[in-house]
Amino acid sequence: MATIAAPEDGRTPNVSRLLLGFATTTRYPLRMTNTPLAEYFEAGLALFYPRVCQICKLARATPEQGLVCAKCWSGVRFIRAPFCARCGLPYEGDITTPFECSNCRDMELHFSSARSAVTAKGVTLEVIHRFKYSNALWFEPFLADLLLRAAVPALRAEKWDIIVPVPLHPTKKREREFNQATRIAAHLARAVGLPLNENLVRRVTPTRTQTLLTKKQRWENVRRAFAAVPGAKLSGERIVLVDDVLTTGATTSACARVLRELGAGEVCVWTVARGL
Ligand SMILES: [Zn+2]
Ligand SMILES: [Zn+2]
Repeated sequence: MATIAAPEDGRTPNVSRLLLGFATTTRYPLRMTNTPLAEYFEAGLALFYPRVCQICKLARATPEQGLVCAKCWSGVRFIRAPFCARCGLPYEGDITTPFECSNCRDMELHFSSARSAVTAKGVTLEVIHRFKYSNALWFEPFLADLLLRAAVPALRAEKWDIIVPVPLHPTKKREREFNQATRIAAHLARAVGLPLNENLVRRVTPTRTQTLLTKKQRWENVRRAFAAVPGAKLSGERIVLVDDVLTTGATTSACARVLRELGAGEVCVWTVARGL
């Protein structure tokens, strides 16, 4: 089976395996490993998916790369220290001691820490928009790869219990046909060997798209957007909450609040990208 062409840092997981092993929960009964069935699946993908980079439309790219060529891949910016210890907001300069940004000091956040793999700019931002709003599902291995590179080593360093994707409202899920957070979270759950649970928290109000709102409006908008799934209960579990993008932290904090009320011992957040 083909592997992704090694980008600059050479720490390339076999993204093809990630793509084929997407099924981590009982909600996705199609489970394929390195079997003839997987080969047929991959061959099928090659028929239906174009084999040219879907960003520049110039260079060759494979489905295992999420159809993003090596040159476009090199435009991705991973978030490196220094960043806010709480929300992960990156800072320029030489800060060597742990610090919290002024935003976090003023707010009551319900997650212990939020981290993102890359900045939501350029290639990454374009891919996320097209993945989410234009059903460009072939980008999924690319996005999962970004998250896994940053999140897997960090999560393995501590003991975590459950992966929870930020839920979509059922109306929105019907429109979009998938929850982008669940798709990405499933890759992470499989990579770190943790269960993915979508039956703890649900979205009860179909919040307007957050993009055009001010910071204050976003917080108002999502404060009561989530509720516990009836009958759900936790007893001290350490939860990894997963979403595609973190901007103000309002959405993830509101979701983390419900998980804490259910009895989660701690909630940390991982997202593919960080809006700046
Ligand atoms: Zn390209
Ligand atoms: Zn912060």
